[in-house]
Amino acid sequence: MSEWQLIPAAHGAGLRLKRGDRLRVIDPEGGQSGDLVAFSPDGSQRLSSGRTFDYGGKIYVSTGDVLWSDRSNPMLTIVTDQVGRHDLLYAPCSLEMYRMQYGVTGYHANCHDNLCNALRGLGIQPEPLVSTFNFFMDAAVGADGRLTFSPPRSRAGDSMVLRAEMDLAIALSACPASTCNGGAQPKPLAFEVLGSEK
Ligand SMILES: [Zn+2]
Repeated sequence: MSEWQLIPAAHGAGLRLKRGDRLRVIDPEGGQSGDLVAFSPDGSQRLSSGRTFDYGGKIYVSTGDVLWSDRSNPMLTIVTDQVGRHDLLYAPCSLEMYRMQYGVTGYHANCHDNLCNALRGLGIQPEPLVSTFNFFMDAAVGADGRLTFSPPRSRAGDSMVLRAEMDLAIALSACPASTCNGGAQPKPLAFEVLGSEK
């Protein structure tokens, strides 16, 4: 159970973790961000950015930090992090966002749909979808409260490892928004499930 599974550019993937399993998310080519959302297996608990800010006391998370559920249970702990900057503020990109902010007409691949489809595949009713953990996305808050984002700091092969603190259903999306990824064409991501440490 320790082989990379590729998430093709602009696509999503779903997986289940048992408590203690470690999930490694990987940027094979560098400069690509992704979205992660976690649910309890029965769908009754969901990742909460707000609870994570509340209990962690900060908006940037990295090694040692915990991602909390909306029922105040630890879901994931970041155990290693080669990138060091991620985002918990932005909602996942959606078709409406591409239409409103970028004038897209017709369909545009988006993290919202990728994540919802992956969760449905795990038997989870995902909507309304919560805000996501946007790993490798480099967003910053200025002193005046303005948000800016920069290209991901991830280099080719960089990864982070998250340990499941409860059984989880996880959805991942390789974000199709080139604005979050330095203007580059969407690139793939990868993951592997490492199992328990001992
Ligand atoms: Zn996205």
